[in-house]
Amino acid sequence: MTLATKAVNAKPLAGAGPDIKGMVDDWARFSEDEGKLTRVFLSPEHKACTESVVAAMEAAGMTARIDAVGNVVGRYEGATPDAKTLITGSHIDTVRDAGAYDGNLGVALPIACIADLNARGKRLPFAVEIIAFGDEEGVRFPTTLSGSRSIAGSFDPAALDVQDAEGTSLAEALRHFGCDPDGIAGEARNSDEVLAFVEVHIEQGPVLEAEALPVGTVTAINGASRFALTLEGMAGHAGTVPMRLRKDALAGAAEMILAIEERGRTDEGLVATVGRIEAAPGAVNVIPGRVGFTLDIRAPQDGQREAAIADLDKRCAEIAERRGLTLSMERLYDEGAVACDAALMDQLDAAIARQGLRPLRLPSGAGHDAMALGALCPIAMLFVRCGGGISHNPLESITAEDAEAAAQVFLDFLEHLDPDSLAR
Ligand SMILES: [Zn+2]
Repeated sequence: MTLATKAVNAKPLAGAGPDIKGMVDDWARFSEDEGKLTRVFLSPEHKACTESVVAAMEAAGMTARIDAVGNVVGRYEGATPDAKTLITGSHIDTVRDAGAYDGNLGVALPIACIADLNARGKRLPFAVEIIAFGDEEGVRFPTTLSGSRSIAGSFDPAALDVQDAEGTSLAEALRHFGCDPDGIAGEARNSDEVLAFVEVHIEQGPVLEAEALPVGTVTAINGASRFALTLEGMAGHAGTVPMRLRKDALAGAAEMILAIEERGRTDEGLVATVGRIEAAPGAVNVIPGRVGFTLDIRAPQDGQREAAIADLDKRCAEIAERRGLTLSMERLYDEGAVACDAALMDQLDAAIARQGLRPLRLPSGAGHDAMALGALCPIAMLFVRCGGGISHNPLESITAEDAEAAAQVFLDFLEHLDPDSLAR
């Protein structure tokens, strides 16, 4: 085959799957733990990884720099100097004993797409920036999303004083990394110049695998609320107190947990989880007098989540009342849902269909950098199937075929995106 016919016939990124996986696997060697992957924000391993990411971006025909908050920012100019910018990317920090693909895939995959455009000498009607954010997992410092919040202009300077377990402040760690904390405010983008943020990420759940699809379009990053529930009954002798005279807090909690599960199962998109329970006094021959348990509830729409919370509040109160128990329900945490942009979702679906795949929409149950970018510009996410839905685990995996299919969808999306269709 001559070069000319190859250029005409070959599908862009055909065979790119192993290269994309290889890039991620290469970064996985930057770890503080021998034999497993742990790469926390502003660590020496994070520094080494940023240098490797810069090199990969430059090899793909981009300019690349480390910004004031430790993000790697790669840029591929548009067809005209006044073109707006589409931002993509994801995070390169990890949890402890992590999988390789969480976050990192969303940096490597777009680099492969830009390398392909660059090899063809093709410029788009917008510039593309790929940002490798450094602080999504929030493992080292009690804050998170510093990188994406800086870009969105919502970074709180008070966060510079927070300390890691060794007593190093975020400001000190940034300086040690070679960054200038005073420059963070200057990294904020002007919303007039940013077209959108579109993040590619592994699904971290089992839906795409169950649907036998390599990719899916995310509808929203779920909002979440967490509660601590406490039930007070009456402890008593397991042998002498008749069943009808008991106030068993654990049996009451069991009924509530089943009600919570039922409410989650019957509301599409809603998930409700009791992840921890403690019974006191906790002896084999004592009726449990006091029980504490947690509730985590998430949904793609805030109204849906609040309606479920109101229902469960009422339902649990009824159960407590009937059983003679006292219930308290304390709200610990609230994070609002961030909706993906309708026009961007349509464009992703169209790219998926053009690549011969069935479009599927699904919410994201986990948080992502896209949440922070939602304050700046329209956002969207493309999920990629991962083996067994497993994530935050060394067993995290994707196939080379899926990496290739996802890259072809993302490249197709970029090449067909009309910037004027996203004016807001
Ligand atoms: Zn992630």
